[in-house]
Amino acid sequence: MRAIVVNRNGGPEVLEPAEREDPVPGPGEVLIDLAASGVNYIDVYFRTGAYKQATPFVPGQEGAGTVAAVGEGVTGVAPGDRVAWQGVLGSYAQRAVVPADQTVPVPDDLSLEDAAASLLQGMTAHYLTHSTYAVRPGDTVLVHAAAGGMGLLLTQIAKLRGARVIGTVSTPEKERLAREAGADEIVGYDGFASEVRRLTGGEGVAVVYDGVGAATFDGSLESLRPRGTLALYGAASGKVPPFDPQRLNPAGSLFLTRPTLAHYTLTREELLERASAVYGWIAKGELRLHVGQRYDLADARRAHEDLEGRRTTGKLLLLP
Ligand code: NDP
Repeated sequence: MRAIVVNRNGGPEVLEPAEREDPVPGPGEVLIDLAASGVNYIDVYFRTGAYKQATPFVPGQEGAGTVAAVGEGVTGVAPGDRVAWQGVLGSYAQRAVVPADQTVPVPDDLSLEDAAASLLQGMTAHYLTHSTYAVRPGDTVLVHAAAGGMGLLLTQIAKLRGARVIGTVSTPEKERLAREAGADEIVGYDGFASEVRRLTGGEGVAVVYDGVGAATFDGSLESLRPRGTLALYGAASGKVPPFDPQRLNPAGSLFLTRPTLAHYTLTREELLERASAVYGWIAKGELRLHVGQRYDLADARRAHEDLEGRRTTGKLLLLP
């Protein structure tokens, strides 16, 4: 099969197309023929070595496709089933082996491309808005990188929950997309905290969803109302330096959390509940997906260059 292999950590150039043996499903595993593989910022952290993984490895941890074979002891998933998964490495390939209990069924009315485009980021946006901080009607929330994969979903879901959304973006085209997704106010990154104060009559926002990290962290804290929550869920601009928790006190008894999807899909029930909420919104037309760019699998390098170069909007897919 065709796959992308990382033989050493580094820049996008270490994403090398290669021919590999088809993987074989072991006990409890299924073999999936991929229709699409989702590109996520976490793939950059694995590629660079910020997140550790022994080399060589096939990167990517989100995909959807058709079950080709099942290993010993697998029940509830059968050859021919349409499934999606996230959180297991190996999706930058034509075939992948995944534990059966990590797969979720794809409803008949959802294309496999849309299933791959929405599972990881959709469930993340779901837990951030429903569990990390449960957005309430009337809240004002700040969403960084509002035209990104996460940003467009967070914006729409916060609006579904009745919030007023302020978004940050870097270009007019990204502003247009974020507004289409429902953002009420858009600001640039320079001096965004004072803009947020102005737009909230001095009060600050209930929650900041910050996947940008180093470049926005201080301003995000400055944007919160008393007892507000900073959900620092990523580091697209780099890791936040060591931090003195005492800073949370004068700033308003703030809450700081660094959440990750694995801890919000701890049981199979929780995984299926979040996945079906996301797929349900898409089926009802309440959540619109924006796949900004599709690449051939062999062009994974270009996909990462575009993602890190801030040239993408919405979701990126690799097509095997
Ligand atoms: P995006 O589509 O949001 O792409 C990243 C965006 O970040 C860029 O388009 C850019 O938007 C903005 N950005 C700001 N500064 C920089 C910079 N210096 N370098 C690169 N980008 C920058 O990516 P994803 O939706 O895949 O991921 C967004 C974040 O969410 C990542 O940090 C990711 O790790 C995190 N994440 C966390 C999860 C979790 O459970 N914790 C799960 C899923 C994602 P602009 O040009 O408008 O500034």
